[in-house]
Amino acid sequence: MRAPVPSLIYLDTMAMTDPEPFGRFFLPGPTEVRREILEAQLHPMIGHRGKGMEELMSRIQPGLQRVFRTARPVYVATASATGFMEGAIRNGARRRVLSLVNGAFSERFHAIARACGVTADRLDVPWSEAHTPAALADALDGKDYDAITVVHSETSTGVLNPIQELTAAAHDAGDIAVLVDSVTGIAGAPTETDAWHLDFILTGSQKALALPPGLAFGVAAEPLLARARANPGRGVYFDFLEFEKSCAANQTPNTPALSLLYALAAQLERIDAEGIEVRWARHAAMARRTWEWVAEMRELGIALTLPVVERSRSPTVTCIALPPGASSAPVVAELKKRGFVIGAGYGKMKDTQLRIGHMGDHTVAELDTLLDSLRTVLRP
Ligand SMILES: *Cc1c(COP(=O)(O)O)cnc(C)c1O
Repeated sequence: MRAPVPSLIYLDTMAMTDPEPFGRFFLPGPTEVRREILEAQLHPMIGHRGKGMEELMSRIQPGLQRVFRTARPVYVATASATGFMEGAIRNGARRRVLSLVNGAFSERFHAIARACGVTADRLDVPWSEAHTPAALADALDGKDYDAITVVHSETSTGVLNPIQELTAAAHDAGDIAVLVDSVTGIAGAPTETDAWHLDFILTGSQKALALPPGLAFGVAAEPLLARARANPGRGVYFDFLEFEKSCAANQTPNTPALSLLYALAAQLERIDAEGIEVRWARHAAMARRTWEWVAEMRELGIALTLPVVERSRSPTVTCIALPPGASSAPVVAELKKRGFVIGAGYGKMKDTQLRIGHMGDHTVAELDTLLDSLRTVLRP
């Protein structure tokens, strides 16, 4: 038997009813998307080689440039963020890459470099710690690395790496391209693409931008394009020279996820109305509120801890270690019964930690209702 196809009338009804209030879904990705942004996707299709598309792309670019703090074009790919991680290597690495690893996503960046056929070494610091420019300078000294990979905000641990300082250390060491995964950084943590001289920076739609999954964004500095030109193995789908050409014409290299572009245009208007610096400050305030709450819980006798030292904490995601012997699964499940979603720890910390994604469009007030509920779960 075939499942009934939802009618347009049914879709209309869905759009008009609001079953859940905003502010319940605190996964560190995908993040909660506002209904008005979801509804922006209901816009009819247009041809992607016509004037309408050019108008849409020219409307999107300035907003994206303000988010990335760049005068360069912002590439928009129909892909998850991993697509541009691969693109970063294929366009930006020549022979030998050093991957800064301190969590699961930086480990993935290293694995991608290897899979793309370049020699890739790793510089490890313990998970829950940040990389330092001094150790990076040591690791680069006397070696022939031509690129580094680094993750801005390690979503698996809640660590923020000092990207500006690490980039300066890499550039001081020679002609080294800095390839930055800022998937949970951009639009939540202060990020200055041009002022920090980042060679390539990428993000995805479903984290601090608070859009549905499916788009990747990236910015390549001029020197990186020279590398791309000399790089015959850069492939087709993530060829930065193709993105460069199509951006200049307000086009995309191939058929874009048009519905997501409508959502993006609507969301960029919201982000502009708030202002990117105010958005960063809101994320910092949500992170601070979460840390304060952990201290309050300790005063109540619940031995929660923050595994990351304060100066290295990400403003978009906080990892909280549970008291010894406690397990994350029942906590996450109890919270779900109360209408809230948070993450368990990542990978090897799955059982012992909780992860709260306070990013995107959430506010301190909404976060407070989550933390109140989490308190009653932990202290019945
Ligand atoms: C989510 C995430 C990714 C992977 O993004 P996809 O969109 O799933 O490809 C990569 N890096 C970081 C830091 C992330 O948080």
